[in-house]
Amino acid sequence: MRIDILTLFPGMFTGPLTESILARAQEAKLLDIHFHDLRTFGLGTYHQVDDSPYGGGVGMVMRADVIVPALEAVVQEGEKGKKGQKRKKGKPWRIYFSPRGKKLKQAKVERLAKREWLILLCGHYEGIDQRIIDGGWIDEEVSIGDYVLTGGELPAMVLIDAIARQIPGVLGKEESAAEESFSASLKRKKEYPHYTRPEEFKSLRVPDVLLSGNHSKIQQWRIDSLK
Ligand code: SAH
Repeated sequence: MRIDILTLFPGMFTGPLTESILARAQEAKLLDIHFHDLRTFGLGTYHQVDDSPYGGGVGMVMRADVIVPALEAVVQEGEKGKKGQKRKKGKPWRIYFSPRGKKLKQAKVERLAKREWLILLCGHYEGIDQRIIDGGWIDEEVSIGDYVLTGGELPAMVLIDAIARQIPGVLGKEESAAEESFSASLKRKKEYPHYTRPEEFKSLRVPDVLLSGNHSKIQQWRIDSLK
């Protein structure tokens, strides 16, 4: 899957995308992530990307005449394929992160994981000029929950992490994504609890059924423990 990220702060992604499972997924070419610094599309000597809101009020709004050319350039770059990159044939799915968007759930993560190409636009300050959305340059607004963050970078990392687990080959066998909280096989419920050695820890014992070796009883206990 190709993912293009448009952000004012590409440095924020170091760490989450360069460690552990997400780093491995990129090395294995299962995830192909490209960063685009919105500042490079800014206007004038100061590379201005935002301006004060019409109607007054505090905060700054990211300008349509900066964001739209950036989005278009990223689409074009993906379609053409830079040197040494694969060309994308299908259309990208363009997501803008916003508290006004539809809340992210596992079923949506699974649907997005089937796409070949995502473009993620991270807002900052007060957000982006509404005309970017109304003009059709965004396919979907996504919220990661009913609270307000300083920018769309953390939501982008949350989405990429959740999607990556669904891409075949990203998780090893040991980490399989099939039987997890909110998966269809657990009827979208929350998973049963887990225990490991020792059998007794500070006088807290592992439930007897899990030590019984009786697989159908264990299965039943796990089903009953779903929330
Ligand atoms: N003025 C906006 C908040 C802007 S927060 C409002 O009141 O709704 C700045 C940026 O952070 C947003 O443009 C968005 O990209 C991101 N953001 C903040 N909270 C978010 C959330 N819960 N889900 C997704 N993106 C979020």
